[in-house]
Amino acid sequence: MRIEDANIVAALPDLGVELGRGASLAELTSLGIGGTTDLLRIKNHESIASLLNLLDSGGVPHRFLGGGSNLLVGDGELPWVVLQLARPNPDIVLEGNVAHVDAAADLGRTVTYCAKHDLGGMEGLIGVPGTVGGALRMNAGAYGMQIGSYVREVKLYRAATRKIEILRGEQISFEYRHTSFAPDDMMLAVKLELPSKPYKEILQGIRICNEKRRSSQPLGQKSAGCIFKNPPGASAGRMIDELGLKGLSVGDARVSDRHANFFVNAKKASAKDMLALVAGVRERVHWAFHVELEHEVVIWNA
Ligand SMILES: Cc1cc2nc3c(=O)[nH]c(=O)nc-3n(C[C@H](O)[C@H](O)[C@H](O)COP(=O)(O)OP(=O)(O)OC[C@H]3O[C@@H](n4cnc5c(N)ncnc54)[C@H](O)[C@@H]3O)c2cc1C
Repeated sequence: MRIEDANIVAALPDLGVELGRGASLAELTSLGIGGTTDLLRIKNHESIASLLNLLDSGGVPHRFLGGGSNLLVGDGELPWVVLQLARPNPDIVLEGNVAHVDAAADLGRTVTYCAKHDLGGMEGLIGVPGTVGGALRMNAGAYGMQIGSYVREVKLYRAATRKIEILRGEQISFEYRHTSFAPDDMMLAVKLELPSKPYKEILQGIRICNEKRRSSQPLGQKSAGCIFKNPPGASAGRMIDELGLKGLSVGDARVSDRHANFFVNAKKASAKDMLALVAGVRERVHWAFHVELEHEVVIWNA
């Protein structure tokens, strides 16, 4: 979608918003799939309410983009614009055991920065791409930990009140790849309370997690991590593997040979290919195991 309304375009600079015309979502997502739309980069949290009022009054729908590592975006000209937070400098400030982190901060860098200051707990998140905002929204986790366990406060733009608010950790429910935030809430910053641990010990944990990832995931290929959530007490990847579906392809969309719950874009897969592969695998799992797999990847298809 291109913003045609000249009043909106003229108001953006004063709001500290940078307009990127016709951005390619294939270039902004780890899966390398997705059409084009206008991209609005927000440099100032305080202008978000005005920006959203402006877009709403002009009838311009929007979506929030973090690092694009958990997204499967539709092909062609997209029917909404994309909002993304610009990364401030600094994006992490430490105060004792509390890390004040901007939502635009890179998750991996946050883990290593805190580690270097003897703050641990998040070792499992090393190797999870994307931003801290995306990780909060998804309650990203791995190897028995999840980011939600360390959240003391979240600063967010709440769609319901159209204001920036602070929520305490205990007001938010963090479940397996699910949070109680409303779909239109925008994460702006977080206070993480982390346990003290010597750097060397954290580094050892990080190395173990890195090794586990390297030995089980197709890290050199374009993917969005796990496509499906694990059903209670079971593994989506194991079910797909047991059905012999590793290597199954639709066009250039392919079930990874290395990890059956990672679907990769082998070359120039379209969203249509990837969606057909996802639907096909889901159907076969349902047929064989009577289990309805839920998507872990967020699908933006119109
Ligand atoms: C190789 C690989 C390995 C992965 N391993 C893991 C893993 O072990 N564990 C795991 O949990 N995930 C994993 N993932 C998935 C992904 O990295 C995480 O879900 C990550 O937290 C998504 O963050 P993002 O910034 O990229 O979000 P995006 O992909 O940009 O967005 C995901 C969702 O969050 C929303 N969102 C993003 N930023 C904001 C914001 N500021 N405010 C409100 N909503 C927002 C988007 O609208 C969208 O709905 C992996 C992905 C890859 C490619």
